[in-house]
Amino acid sequence: MPFSPDSTKQKTDIKSLSKAELEEFLRPMGVKSFRVNQIYSWLHQKQVLTFDEMTNLPASLREELSSICYISVANIEKKLVSSYDNTIKYLFSFQDGECVESVVMDYHHGRSMCISTQVGCKMGCTFCATGKAGFVRNLTASEILAQIHAAQKDLNIRISSVVLMGMGEPLDNYDNVLKFLSLATDSDGLALGARHITLSTCGIVPKIYELAESGIPVTLSLSLHATTDEIRSRTMPVNKKYPIEEAIRACKYYASVTGRRITYEYALISGVNDSDTDALRLANLIKGSLCHVNLIPVNPVKGTGYTQSSDKRLRAFQKVLTDNRVNATVRRTLGSDISASCGQLRGSHTK
Ligand code: SAH
Ligand code: SF4
Repeated sequence: MPFSPDSTKQKTDIKSLSKAELEEFLRPMGVKSFRVNQIYSWLHQKQVLTFDEMTNLPASLREELSSICYISVANIEKKLVSSYDNTIKYLFSFQDGECVESVVMDYHHGRSMCISTQVGCKMGCTFCATGKAGFVRNLTASEILAQIHAAQKDLNIRISSVVLMGMGEPLDNYDNVLKFLSLATDSDGLALGARHITLSTCGIVPKIYELAESGIPVTLSLSLHATTDEIRSRTMPVNKKYPIEEAIRACKYYASVTGRRITYEYALISGVNDSDTDALRLANLIKGSLCHVNLIPVNPVKGTGYTQSSDKRLRAFQKVLTDNRVNATVRRTLGSDISASCGQLRGSHTK
């Protein structure tokens, strides 16, 4: 059936409901508890795309469900496979035609997936392809989940870890992201361990404190990318509201509450943030706390004018950190032939 924009408008997004919410939603229809469990399992374990596939439900219930609910699906618009390292990049579309990108990476210990939380982003970081394209809308919890379901089905694999590092700022879509986290960690769903989920943020400070108290101790990553407020405010406008020291204080608090090591992401931009002085300032900001630094050469995005620091500069920067007892790794760049860093595929698709 072709999609009509009105067909999901009044319908309930059934895959965004927790089991308790599903139970409450179906109670007025007289649906018994064991049926609720069956439906939840079809949605979150077998991950069906239609109510017709829920074959152990009476036909009348399937019909009733499809008249009042819809199941979020991430449709594969494009799929690119890296010939270097098996990294797979998807462009997914949702019911309204909006698209996001996701990447599946092959690691020795399993498959990891980088997923999106918004169509576009409001934060406007000057080095970021997603930021440059602007904001369209938030994803629902089920749309965030559907990216994982779609990849698992397409590749016939299990995703064992997830990073919220695709398009969008997860803490700017806090309620839907938290909902996603609780569905994805549910033992009757994907059953991902919280430690196997990494949330990356540009540093929306009050939400970092909220996340610390959420009871879902995911791994937290702060996109730092500068060591002075002057430079960071220029490249990451969010810094004008939440400056470096406040963001780092929130991260240290997060680490103390959850016991989880913080990752500081640092993309080296030639001549902007990559001097030994920057490295030393970075070390002084975070040394002694439960953390490590991920260094990555900035991915040059058209129109930004930024270029990557040399490998030599990167190693020198890393040495200053390790000499100051700050653990720093250089991130492997995966799928460089398929522009696996986010924002670029959607950009070329939209054009
Ligand atoms: N909005 C969140 C998560 C999505 S961005 C955040 O900013 O953390 C995912 C990661 O990609 C972030 O660390 C971001 O800073 C980084 N990133 C964006 N553009 C990049 C580029 N051109 N080169 C290297 N890293 C980039
Ligand atoms: Fe948004 Fe993250 Fe890109 Fe900044 S780096 S614009 S917060 S997606």
